[in-house]
Amino acid sequence: MLIYKQFSIEAAHHLPNVPEGHKCRRLHGHSFQVTIYAGDQMDEQLGWIMDFADLKTAFKPIFEQLDHHYLNEINGLENPTSENLARWIWQRLQPNLPQLRKVEIKETCTSGCIYCGENEQ
Ligand SMILES: [Zn+2]
Repeated sequence: MLIYKQFSIEAAHHLPNVPEGHKCRRLHGHSFQVTIYAGDQMDEQLGWIMDFADLKTAFKPIFEQLDHHYLNEINGLENPTSENLARWIWQRLQPNLPQLRKVEIKETCTSGCIYCGENEQ
């Protein structure tokens, strides 16, 4: 069983490595929907996997680094595709949240990516 919490991040970016003339090369912004999934043994007494508040607390410092920022200026996000953003979040969140199972990024309502860690690609 997995639980999840969604966060909305407003941020600007551009993709420097796409061909000249590609629309994503121009500066633009997204309302990224970031969903953090956690899995663990169910605590039968409490009836939950973990407190949603603990998920929120673990993600808070990462949220603050990203929200209303220009992603290309952040160390490690020089090419801020959804894929790179998902991996960047995983690498920073997983040490504080060992129950992390998936990071999902939606950059539009219909486009996004899911990262499950190095072992599962
Ligand atoms: Zn974009």
